[in-house]
Amino acid sequence: MSYINAKSKKFLCFGILFIITYMQLTTLSTNAAEHPEKVVLGKYYDILRDTSNSITVEEIISGIHDKAFEPSEYDYLLFWHTTDTIWLRLSTNDLQLKEKDYWIEVIDKLESIEMFLVQQDGSYIVQQRGISNVEQQNISYRSNLFQINEPNITEIYFKLEGTPLLPLSMVSFLYTTDDFIKSVIDYKYFTGIFYGFLLALLIYNVFLYFSFKERVYLYYVLYMASFIVYQATMNSLDVELFGQLLPKWLLTKTLTMGAHVLFASMLLFSIEFLELRKYLPRCYKAAKILLITAFVLLIFTLIVPNASKVNDFTLVYSVTVLIFLWIVGLFVLLKGQKMARFYMIGWTVLLGAIIVQSLSFLMIIPFHPYLFEHVPALGAIFEATFLSLALGDKINLMKKEHQELQIELNETLEYKVQQRTQQLEQAKQELEKLANTDLLTQISNRVRLDMVLEEYFALVKEHETPFSIILLDIDNFKEINDTYGHQVGDQVLIEIAQVLKDAIREQDIVGRWGGEEFLVVCPNTSLNEALQFAEVLRMRIASCLFPVVQHKTSSFGVASYIKGDTLNTLLYRSDKALYKAKAGGKNRVEYIMQDFHQ
Ligand code: GH3
Ligand code: MG
Ligand code: MG
Repeated sequence: MSYINAKSKKFLCFGILFIITYMQLTTLSTNAAEHPEKVVLGKYYDILRDTSNSITVEEIISGIHDKAFEPSEYDYLLFWHTTDTIWLRLSTNDLQLKEKDYWIEVIDKLESIEMFLVQQDGSYIVQQRGISNVEQQNISYRSNLFQINEPNITEIYFKLEGTPLLPLSMVSFLYTTDDFIKSVIDYKYFTGIFYGFLLALLIYNVFLYFSFKERVYLYYVLYMASFIVYQATMNSLDVELFGQLLPKWLLTKTLTMGAHVLFASMLLFSIEFLELRKYLPRCYKAAKILLITAFVLLIFTLIVPNASKVNDFTLVYSVTVLIFLWIVGLFVLLKGQKMARFYMIGWTVLLGAIIVQSLSFLMIIPFHPYLFEHVPALGAIFEATFLSLALGDKINLMKKEHQELQIELNETLEYKVQQRTQQLEQAKQELEKLANTDLLTQISNRVRLDMVLEEYFALVKEHETPFSIILLDIDNFKEINDTYGHQVGDQVLIEIAQVLKDAIREQDIVGRWGGEEFLVVCPNTSLNEALQFAEVLRMRIASCLFPVVQHKTSSFGVASYIKGDTLNTLLYRSDKALYKAKAGGKNRVEYIMQDFHQ
């Protein structure tokens, strides 16, 4: 899995943001030399509002309503949601038309707009535009285009028909043909960069989705896609591209429907991104309700023919969702979710842009097409970019978490291995002890004695150090078994083993040689020392008070290493010494210096 590192990604994003902002600002400055000359028509209009929708064009041309017309005060006209018919009058005298050909562009998405060119003789030519007359415009373009190439025109009238679905506005410009072409190029340039950037962000996040398989990237892609669709319907790109294909009733509804899809995806994304279910379970529920509402509104918009009520509700709904998501973002941020930082920046910018737009709709600040189109678009680009940065942040967080987990895992693994090794070592020691210990007396058994003897004897042979062994046999042991039973015999064996264990010196090792015989191995011990020590052992046993049997004695055979000895000869001598002790009357210590019969 490879991805661009966070720093270079941030740099890239800011770079693109800068370029986009710069481009937008340059298109805003209309006095730049290469930009088309155009006349903003707003203030040239006289306006008549026909609330009864009954006035005919003949009546208008005849002049009987002349006094009802009122001059416009604004460059850009906005009538908001209305079902009234609006009549607009332009006087060619005021416009001082000198060229032969002119174009009037009305960029608003309208249900129906008709232009009447009134000639000197009172006759008129009509050009019909808007969604209901989409086939009448030969040039496929997002705006409504009217061509003026007739001489002798005295007056121009526009008839705008309100519809509950589309806000009624009139942003109109007058161009010469040359300037009109320049304006089209400008527009194509702007849309190319704008949609290109959004598409790039979208594709980038599609890749992120496929490499991380995290749902949040998918929702971001969905959000970007619906934002692109919404922006496109706002700029009437749906009319430009699909005007001839889509049914007209649908074209009047695309904007509202696009908004609902946009809100739904916004909610989906925010729920996932802010981890609402985890951080704010109540808001999570509220968000879900809002989400369902978006879908209900979407279906209503689609099926209700005259959707003015739905439209009013949509307005309230939009404001609610935007403010809700902003506040939720703030709370999640306060709860310590780091990624909410970028979310908040992005959302604040978007919300700010939308507030500016709303203020202009409400005529609190003058309505301007840039406020309608460019400001929210810029806001959305900032927001989309910051969200993308936030998603980048998420990658870093995930990476960090992953590393921390890995470290933790290693540590626990190491610890477990250590513990396991310890346990194994313990088990091994226990097994060893078990293998080397006499079950009954709990001192070394024959196996261990053999091992120790061999080990010590090798060293003794090498360094020629003194070495002695003491073999002892309990006297008349058979009697005990015969008189008191085996168990009492066992008890005596246990007791004697304990006596020996307590008596031996640090370097000595005592073990059960077999039956009722014991062997004491005495390294660095001369024959004399061994004899003295054996005597100590003899007296200890003899003076010991055993349960049941009271007193018991033992016989001792001692042998010390002499040059030329093997382990066998040494053991043989100790055995012989023991035999000598038995033969000599038992309860005594005997030794053999050298056996010449070996
Ligand atoms: P002595 O050595 O003085 O000549 O006489 P003794 O009776 O000790 O001689 P012997 O070696 O013939 O008898 C040893 C007996 O010890 C034989 C056996 O039944 C008994 N014995 C050997 N191992 C055990 C044991 O683990 N428990 C019990 N209770 N008896 C044992
Ligand atoms: Mg014996
Ligand atoms: Mg015996």
